[in-house]
Amino acid sequence: MTAASDPHVIDTSKPHPARVYDWLLGGKDNYLVDQELAQKLPPQARENARRNRAFMHRAAAWLAGQGIDQFLDIGTGIPTEPNLHQIVQAITPATRVAYADNDPIVLRHAEALLASAPEGATTYIQADVREPGAILEHARGFLDFDRPVALSLIALMHFIMDDEDPYGLARALIDALPSGSYLMFSHGTADEHPQLEQSVSTAYKEGRVPLRMRTRAEVALFFDGLELVEPGLVTATEWFKDGPAPRRELSGFHVGVARVP
Ligand code: SAH
Repeated sequence: MTAASDPHVIDTSKPHPARVYDWLLGGKDNYLVDQELAQKLPPQARENARRNRAFMHRAAAWLAGQGIDQFLDIGTGIPTEPNLHQIVQAITPATRVAYADNDPIVLRHAEALLASAPEGATTYIQADVREPGAILEHARGFLDFDRPVALSLIALMHFIMDDEDPYGLARALIDALPSGSYLMFSHGTADEHPQLEQSVSTAYKEGRVPLRMRTRAEVALFFDGLELVEPGLVTATEWFKDGPAPRRELSGFHVGVARVP
């Protein structure tokens, strides 16, 4: 088995999205190949990663405030404090969070994700969103799918190419959720700075990391059949609820939270 195909071996022969993102966030769990790709990205990529992460924090906190106490987070990334369970367990300590990622480096650092509040619980699933059935099977053993679950797909689906059926994959996961569940979602876009699309795409392409940024209209399709929560499908810094409005800035991400009817 090669490093690339063994789900437990860290492959440093090419960049990996989780490690590039970790570098952008100022983390240390990345390698030269990842840094080389990240440094080819436009300078705003670091800010944008932080703005995406901050949206995740606000959305998760809002959902916890709505009484959601079960989360399924796919494409978790390398742990970066505060992690999702820390945000939601600060509000409801008994919350259960199932994390999933397909990168072995996340598995290696899963300990930080498993440090749950004693009242709640967290688990980590080494899995690929392109196999939603396997993720759901594991998640069902940990979360109660007869009660609302928040499905979190944050900065994940732009790594799924059109021919891999991104909408069908998201649909398969959403269809498993009972009424009253939620989707929290963010997706990379070049809508705000089309002049940068080429350099971002080229950097990822040279790193052999497939990336498919999508327009607002394309991102809207992920919310088909769901009830978008105010303020709707917006950019990362435009999404906020109770707290003070973050400064409105470009982020390179379309985001939204939606209820499953
Ligand atoms: N959700 C986190 C991390 C985003 S980085 C946040 O927004 O802060 C994107 C993550 O998606 C990486 O950890 C990467 O390993 C993971 N990922 C990419 N493709 C995936 C796939 N097919 N299945 C599961 N995870 C995937």
